Amino acid sequence: MNPKPVIPGVWEVPIDFVNAFLLDTGDGLVVIDTGLAGRAAGLLDAVRAIGRDPEEIRDILVTHCHSDHAGSLAELKRLTGAPATMHPIDAAMVREGRALRPLRPAPGLVNALVCRFLLPKAPIEVEPAAIEHEAGDGELLPCGLRAIHVPGHSAGQLAFLWPKQGGVLFAADAAANAFGLALSPLYEDVDEGRRSLARLAALEFEVACFGHGKSIRSGASAQFRRKWPAARDSRVA
Ligand SMILES: [Zn+2]
Ligand SMILES: [Zn+2]
Repeated sequence: MNPKPVIPGVWEVPIDFVNAFLLDTGDGLVVIDTGLAGRAAGLLDAVRAIGRDPEEIRDILVTHCHSDHAGSLAELKRLTGAPATMHPIDAAMVREGRALRPLRPAPGLVNALVCRFLLPKAPIEVEPAAIEHEAGDGELLPCGLRAIHVPGHSAGQLAFLWPKQGGVLFAADAAANAFGLALSPLYEDVDEGRRSLARLAALEFEVACFGHGKSIRSGASAQFRRKWPAARDSRVA
């Protein structure tokens, strides 16, 4: 779990096949997503590896209920005492220890194969955790990030926009950048997912970070607009 700097103040922490992120807001550290179950100690090692103390963690933001993002939340909360923030729809899932609603593949053969071979192995449960703060669409969080509701991949998924350094979007699994910027392999509702991406494309951000795949370090919102023409009626534009 070696943390990789994305831009000053933002680190990508690869955990198995998913990325968590560390963010230095200038007023403590924010952790975005927690990896599969059993990875909390490794996440704290990543905090030490960037020269910081786990006691500096102020907030844990969880993008959605899937086990590769919320799996170590309960454990990380025990170790740090930091409060958790989620969208109310997926917060209700994690409080009850549920991790998965039915998913279908996005168009394309590779996505169909991912769905057929990997989805049956995906944990349907996570350790239940208290979620202290529920964030709705457009809400500015005390840590300085703005929550953006991006349903489609998961009904209660949040992306987060940090308005520093030209804008840094934490897109979660709204899209992926494993083999170029593309839809994620799996959605609860792919049309809804496309509408969420068109809303994200209406925003301005230089950098984009993903749950799966590499971060885009410059010109990220222009790349989103080329792929998913921006929604003119975006509620958060
Ligand atoms: Zn997911
Ligand atoms: Zn994921």
